[in-house]
Amino acid sequence: MENPSSYDLTGKTVLVNREWRSMSMTEAVQKGRQHVVVVGGRVTGIAMVVQLLATLNEGAGITVIDPHDSRYPSVFYDPEDLVIANTSGHIGSIVAADPTDFLSYLDHHQDPHSVPRHIVGRYADQRLAHHVRRTRARGVAAARIVDTVRSIARRGGTYVLRLGSGRLIDATDVVLAMGAGPRRDVTGITGIGPYPTGRLRSARVREALVVGTGQSAIDAALVLADSGARVTMSSRAGLLPAVRTRTLLNEQGLTLDPRAPTFDLEATLDRFVQAHGHRPLTTMLSAVRDPIDRLGEEITLAESGDIPWQDALVAVALHLSRHAPQSTGNPRFAWRYLTSIMLTTAHRLRNAINDRAVRLVRWTHVAPQQHDLIVVAAGNDRYPITCTSDAMYLGSAPAGAAPWTTLTESLQVQLPGRTQPERVWAVGPTTTVRYSTANFLASAVAQSARIARRIGNAPTQ
Ligand SMILES: Cc1cc2nc3c(=O)[nH]c(=O)nc-3n(C[C@H](O)[C@H](O)[C@H](O)COP(=O)(O)OP(=O)(O)OC[C@H]3O[C@@H](n4cnc5c(N)ncnc54)[C@H](O)[C@@H]3O)c2cc1C
Repeated sequence: MENPSSYDLTGKTVLVNREWRSMSMTEAVQKGRQHVVVVGGRVTGIAMVVQLLATLNEGAGITVIDPHDSRYPSVFYDPEDLVIANTSGHIGSIVAADPTDFLSYLDHHQDPHSVPRHIVGRYADQRLAHHVRRTRARGVAAARIVDTVRSIARRGGTYVLRLGSGRLIDATDVVLAMGAGPRRDVTGITGIGPYPTGRLRSARVREALVVGTGQSAIDAALVLADSGARVTMSSRAGLLPAVRTRTLLNEQGLTLDPRAPTFDLEATLDRFVQAHGHRPLTTMLSAVRDPIDRLGEEITLAESGDIPWQDALVAVALHLSRHAPQSTGNPRFAWRYLTSIMLTTAHRLRNAINDRAVRLVRWTHVAPQQHDLIVVAAGNDRYPITCTSDAMYLGSAPAGAAPWTTLTESLQVQLPGRTQPERVWAVGPTTTVRYSTANFLASAVAQSARIARRIGNAPTQ
């Protein structure tokens, strides 16, 4: 068994208290020490650790396991300045107890509604290091292992994790913070993913096809166009996201019933705008069908400030990640508005379209063979997670294991045939087995705070 003192969390700070340094994890768990393993060490995993550091008792330990070290350029770590957050700095805090933490971290010259995403990653790393240093005095150990978790098996009241290297790690509690899942393939089209964008810049291609028209497809198109490529974008639905200028938390005028079994975004936004004294929602939305003309009209609406619906989105996202109502209403409307892009990105896209560096074509007109590079940015599939009554398998499954389907309202995994949920939690985009809607970092932070209260001994809310 590994002793966590040989690793560190951020690449800079060694974070293990004296007692843990002299024990292996197995010994510690056998001696009744609480040992929480967080599977996945990017922003959601980091938010989870920050919340756990606030709730775990003296003598407990946290180990983060991720095959990528903290420099891997994933969504919030991509160094590309063109790739900005589609949420405002006002809801970017990874510290649940301090919602303004990210806003106060930002340089005062930085527009909080147009923050390059790598600033969020840098902030998360720095806050992690800060909270670990603070908590070390309380005797909570934290460590990082660069490896992949393959399975989590029950053993008595605790768990044994098998890693890709063959190592076994004992844990009293496990949190799955593995992100959204593998990139979705599109039948008949082979390409690379949109991130890290450095691969797109360095490819120096003339003709690129981007499959997808959502946020990550737009990121890829902007980077490729900026590096001199002519970009064709296309998706089956052919829709671009709507345009917003900010994401703020405003619950006033929202009637979100936690017990309601269904949820209709359009009706909710309509009630919200009218409660704030505006005219009906339908009169303030673009009715144009062509996606490029609609982008232009939605930019004008956003510039004029006539988009009060945007101020309901954060509360709605938090509601959807806390309760799991079935979405009714138009799924295309829900996708366009929940994943709407910031005005800065919308301007960049329209400029690239006007400069003929980016064009949108119908799906039936796409000719993949005419392109030097194909980027597939069509979303993510669920992780192939399976389980038996005694174990979970992350990736390849043994015969007899069934797809994982049950996450309780307390965000705990329930194994088939068992009545009690496990001390295995899921957080952030990994909760799609229960919460199918777009996941903001703010939702992941709120979920991580709930989980940390359950795992630690802090009083529950
Ligand atoms: C293009 C895009 C833009 C987004 N922009 C925003 C935004 O602006 N604002 C916002 O609030 N939200 C945004 N989101 C939503 C969400 O907040 C982000 O997806 C966020 O980066 C998710 O972070 P994560 O840590 O959950 O997942 P990831 O960054 O995907 O990290 C998951 C980690 O888990 C590890 N892992 C997976 N399986 C295993 C295993 N078996 N063992 C060990 N480790 C494992 C992976 O190696 C990976 O490092 C965006 C999402 C996308 C896709």
